[in-house]
Amino acid sequence: MSVAVGVGRWGEDWASRALCVSQDPDALFVRGKAQHDAKAVCKSCPVLAQCLAEALDNRTEFGVWGGMTERERRALLRKRPDITSWRTALREGMAAAAQKG
Ligand code: SF4
Repeated sequence: MSVAVGVGRWGEDWASRALCVSQDPDALFVRGKAQHDAKAVCKSCPVLAQCLAEALDNRTEFGVWGGMTERERRALLRKRPDITSWRTALREGMAAAAQKG
């Protein structure tokens, strides 16, 4: 997953720049396999990292957030229990990626 977008614009207003803002809100809150189709919109979302960090930091359990299904997010949280702030981790990762060019 690429998160090297929007490094200079992490701002609190990220939700207003979400690609899904104009679609049916229920489209991202589907179950099971349908989540994989639902997350297609996230691939080109300029605030994917912000959205994912929000969901991970708040342990949001239901729906597609940041291009990940609830199952994928649970797996990531289990894999990286050392990360206490996903917002910080993803933001720093984006800054490092931006410096590399
Ligand atoms: S990453 Fe996906 S769920 Fe999150 S704001 Fe963007 S389009 Fe919406």
